[in-house]
Amino acid sequence: MKRSEVNREELSPMMLQYFSIKDRYMEELLFFRLGDFYELFFEDAEVTSRELELTLTGKNAGLKERIPMCGVPHHSAKSYIEKLINKGYKVAICEQLEDPRFTKGMVKRDVIEVITKGTMVDLEFLNERDFNYIGGIIDYNYAYLLTYVDISTGEVNSVMINHNNDSLLNEILNLNLKEVIVKNDFSLEIINILKNSYNINISINDEILEDEYTSIYEDVEDERIVYGIKNLLYYLHVKELKDLSHLSKVNILKRDDYLEMDVHTIRNLELIETLRLKERRFSLIWLLDKTKTAMGARTLKTWLMNPLKDKTEINKRYDYIETLNNNFLLREEMRNDLYEVYDLERLCGKIICGSLNARDVLQIKNSLKVLPDIARIIDELKFDFKIELHRELFDLLEKAIYEEPPISVKEGYLIKPGYNQELDELKEIRSGGKEFISSIESIEREKTGIQNLKVGFNKVFGYYIEVTKGQIDKIDPSLGWERRQTLTGAERFITPELKEKEALVLNAEEKIIDIEYNLFSEIRDILRKNVFALKETAKVLSEIDVFASLSIASEEYHLIRPKITDDRSISIIEGSHPVVQEVSQNTYIKNDIIMDEDTTTLLITGPNMSGKSTYMRQLAITVILAQMGSFVPAESCAMPIFDRIFTRIGASDDLVSGESTFMVEMLEAKNALVNATENSLILFDELGRGTATYDGMSLARAILEYISKNIKCKTLFSTHYHELTDLDKDYPDIKNVHVEAVEENGSITFLHKVSAGAVDKSYGIHVAALAGMPESLLKRASEILSVYESESKKDTPSIHAEQISFALEEEHKDEVKEMLKEINPLNTTPLEALNILYKLKEISRK
Ligand code: ADP
Repeated sequence: MKRSEVNREELSPMMLQYFSIKDRYMEELLFFRLGDFYELFFEDAEVTSRELELTLTGKNAGLKERIPMCGVPHHSAKSYIEKLINKGYKVAICEQLEDPRFTKGMVKRDVIEVITKGTMVDLEFLNERDFNYIGGIIDYNYAYLLTYVDISTGEVNSVMINHNNDSLLNEILNLNLKEVIVKNDFSLEIINILKNSYNINISINDEILEDEYTSIYEDVEDERIVYGIKNLLYYLHVKELKDLSHLSKVNILKRDDYLEMDVHTIRNLELIETLRLKERRFSLIWLLDKTKTAMGARTLKTWLMNPLKDKTEINKRYDYIETLNNNFLLREEMRNDLYEVYDLERLCGKIICGSLNARDVLQIKNSLKVLPDIARIIDELKFDFKIELHRELFDLLEKAIYEEPPISVKEGYLIKPGYNQELDELKEIRSGGKEFISSIESIEREKTGIQNLKVGFNKVFGYYIEVTKGQIDKIDPSLGWERRQTLTGAERFITPELKEKEALVLNAEEKIIDIEYNLFSEIRDILRKNVFALKETAKVLSEIDVFASLSIASEEYHLIRPKITDDRSISIIEGSHPVVQEVSQNTYIKNDIIMDEDTTTLLITGPNMSGKSTYMRQLAITVILAQMGSFVPAESCAMPIFDRIFTRIGASDDLVSGESTFMVEMLEAKNALVNATENSLILFDELGRGTATYDGMSLARAILEYISKNIKCKTLFSTHYHELTDLDKDYPDIKNVHVEAVEENGSITFLHKVSAGAVDKSYGIHVAALAGMPESLLKRASEILSVYESESKKDTPSIHAEQISFALEEEHKDEVKEMLKEINPLNTTPLEALNILYKLKEISRK
């Protein structure tokens, strides 16, 4: 039976209550609290039972037919909810808002929280070394504003993004957003890509939250950013009912302050995960991460994804690493201290909106314990960090919280003796009562002569005396015992004395639990007041953790301090690809990368498998490491600051689905050619190979010439087209290098050594032989090759730069003319005018 088929007039009062709540939470699976269970009804029950493999039952709701129902016990609901959220569902938690013990009639119920992928706080599968962001997008027609929040840590960020789909998708994918909130009129195309290709939850919200949580944006002048924040806050606070008191002031990111990398670059260079298995193992962050805290690990990721462009800032980071390298004893002490620090940021999130328990508080206390020592070390190292010690808070927690508390905060055993007098007195009464009860055992044994008589306790009957069947005769009615329970081999009795003491103990017990819970809530309130100060401390701890990690990595992998230069030359001596070097079974062959001020391009030739793309990746990774403030793998390294990195390496998955591989390749190349500046770095790996030979070769040549003439940025270009190696004759800024291989008796050995000059052979057939192709096939291929080679020698087309006109530039001029012709200034709105201006600027940049 479906929910929509129900005649509401026939419903029982409780089901009417269910319907009135469910009407407000149509998109969510409604977990409806009934006693010790959460129940789901109708379609919600069907979905849940299917997804979680639970039994679908029925409930009598006053209707003729029973309605579908499915339930999970309240105490184990968390793991079920996690599974549903992970599968992309939203869950609304509807609680009983009154204590049924003290309520006449039906208890009030309402939804207290909506949980979605982007807003989980204390669920187990939240990756502690990663962020969990939810983002809101506002489309301003000329730009997108992305506001994103990690509810678990309270971090709020906002960034303006160019008004094109790729830039927006890049940002969303790089941040690994799980859930995105958009307005009703947002581009359906983008919504579909996010939903269908990347499995990102999309929700719609047009409202904004006024006058609440204003501290997040009170210093922000840009009204557009304030609007974006208010829009996201509305969703989180009103729709998901979240308490957001711990959210920090917004951090406004300027993309311009950081080295820009698109999603392909981050994937191709395997910064965060490997390309094929999508695992952290064998990625660059896996190699670098020596942090001791989860907060440090997350900060390291942020730094790696956002390398700096400010030379002073970068050098400051190098200085810290150098200091730690020179003071390794202090560094080890500091790391031992950091090892004791828990995830303070997420604990702060839990203080506000999670279910903070006494074990969490203990984690906070233990984290605070090491602060004085860390402060001393920071002082000795002369680091420019200020760290608050939170002494008062620590003393309070040390005095209050029991060392081994239970998970639940409603069972007592949270508060230490000596913290509260009333509590201590009640505990004395309880233990006195218990002692007395246990003494009853020996007293009654003596009285009755029953040696195996026992005093026990269970929840239903309380304290009892148990006597085995064989001994029952010895119980005289004059004892005044009352029979309570008959078991197969024994009988259980109570006595007035036992019951009197029991009442004392249980009464004290109940009061103790109440008082402990109240004291714990008071401590939780004190923590709430300290949340922002604690978060500041967490930030400092995470940064020094990253510096210590970078310092350890620099020692372990023999990294050196790069020199950031002001000219445009690169000189990396004996460099390597850090991950390949560490992971490969074979010895890594180190290579130099030298490009003087006037060299734009290294054209790299060499057989397949010789190490061309590793060489290109080596440069990009060295740049990223250097600009994030890390040491780099080389004997020496001098390089300028880059503003953007573009890569087209290996197979890549397309952002805009449905395109052919070659199309994707061209789109990515175009993206680089349109957006690169003189200060960018471009890596093109065998560009053009996805089409017919002459097509591909012509495109590759034209692209190289275009970069040389128009962009002049540092470029590494690997190719199989040996015909391109004559480019250096017309373009002195293009230099040939090759990766060496030696051929002996028809078999090939890769030396992985990069040297000046070009190779004139591809060794494709040799590589095929290495792969174990049939002998006869290889022989035939060699024959065909020699025919091709002799034919092509007859009429090799010699192409000189002058012959190639840059039709592209002409094209742009026409485009501008066409656009101007179309405009009628008299009926153009200001917004349209702004759009046109933006487009013209785009064209002019091309
Ligand atoms: P290409 O791009 O020329 O086809 P790759 O860069 O993919 O070649 O390298 C092929 C393999 O050679 C890599 O998997 C790597 O293990 C190894 N390799 C590459 N460069 C080196 C090097 N400098 N030293 C040692 N091994 C290397």
